[in-house]
Amino acid sequence: MRNYFQNQRILVTGGAGFLGSHLIDSLITRGCDVICLDNLFTGNKANIQHLMNHPQFEFIRHDVCLPIQLEVDQIFNLACPASPEHYQHNPIHTTKTSVFGALNMLELAVHNKARIFQASTSEVYGDPIVHPQPESYWGHVNPVGIRSCYDEGKRCAETLFFDFHRKHDVDIRVARIFNTYGPRMHPNDGRVVSNFVIQALKNEDITLFGLGMQTRSFCYVDDLVEAILRFMDKPLIEIRNGNPVSPINLGNSQEITIRALADLIIELTQSKSRLVFKPMPADDPAQRQPELSQARQLLAWEANTELHSGLKKTIAYFDQILTKSKTMIGNPDQPSSSTFV
Ligand code: NAD
Ligand code: UDP
Repeated sequence: MRNYFQNQRILVTGGAGFLGSHLIDSLITRGCDVICLDNLFTGNKANIQHLMNHPQFEFIRHDVCLPIQLEVDQIFNLACPASPEHYQHNPIHTTKTSVFGALNMLELAVHNKARIFQASTSEVYGDPIVHPQPESYWGHVNPVGIRSCYDEGKRCAETLFFDFHRKHDVDIRVARIFNTYGPRMHPNDGRVVSNFVIQALKNEDITLFGLGMQTRSFCYVDDLVEAILRFMDKPLIEIRNGNPVSPINLGNSQEITIRALADLIIELTQSKSRLVFKPMPADDPAQRQPELSQARQLLAWEANTELHSGLKKTIAYFDQILTKSKTMIGNPDQPSSSTFV
């Protein structure tokens, strides 16, 4: 089988984060040279430590809001805090990261004639009224709420991607990623999987927002990375198939209530934690499930990892770092890592 990635020089922005670091591992395995660009806001050098002396790997500490000149064949633009707690920490910078980051990376793509991937999000659908969400749905987004810096930033980034495609013929791939979890999630980012697993492992109260009846559909990181690579590997002509280029949903369609997720994590960790109910954050989507027929057809791909087996691996990861580090050395740029453990 053709290996599109062999000998390619690939830029991964946000490469020291959760998804980016897994993506880089796969790219290195496929034989390409990787430049990881990250400002380490929510990322962590520990996620890429094993690559620091690798001949195919380079790290650049840089903020995507600022232009940069590099010679690259492909770009994966993942730089952006992804958890509500982190992206709301400095919302103006979150919007800048999405919008200026996309602009700078698209200009770099034009300069290099590089194929470019954008990590967009299910948040572009906001609190969706259409369920499950197909790519054709334009969404139901509050433009002035506390989640807007992320949702509207990512929507504007998509606009830039499609305008660069139409105006400058840039070879774009835009994926709307639904909730993804796994090892290397930031322990303090407040996302539901990391929160519940850590709370359960420590036998602390599990914090359900609202009644926990809101739903999400959780994808294991390895499945997502495989889909991203298949998507980037496809020539544009095959993706178009005679149609205009479209964003594509990526995720797992198995939908679960947050309460059922809490019960499952308690069961898998054999925890003594109790459920406690906290106020529902503003604009928290009530339901979310990807409509995946485009991804299935185009990529011949399915997210195969069952929730309980992905959670077991995630639990093992957090168990290991909880055991190892009673005092994790915090990155001063990270909002709350010093409170871990
Ligand atoms: P993450 O917070 O672990 O990773 C984001 C990375 O981007 C971090 O390493 C961070 O330091 C870096 N970063 C943030 N702002 C930056 C800036 N201005 N300049 C340079 N680097 C910067 O989050 P993640 O879950 O790995 O998400 C990666 C990407 O995927 C994000 O763009 C996110 O919006 C998107 N996404 C993730 C999910 C998910 O469930 N994990 C879902 C939808 C979309
Ligand atoms: N959530 C929760 N308790 C927590 C963290 C999150 O009940 O400790 C809920 C949150 O309100 C949301 C869902 O879990 O409905 C998923 O939250 P997350 O922050 O992981 O992702 P997103 O809201 O961006 O999908």
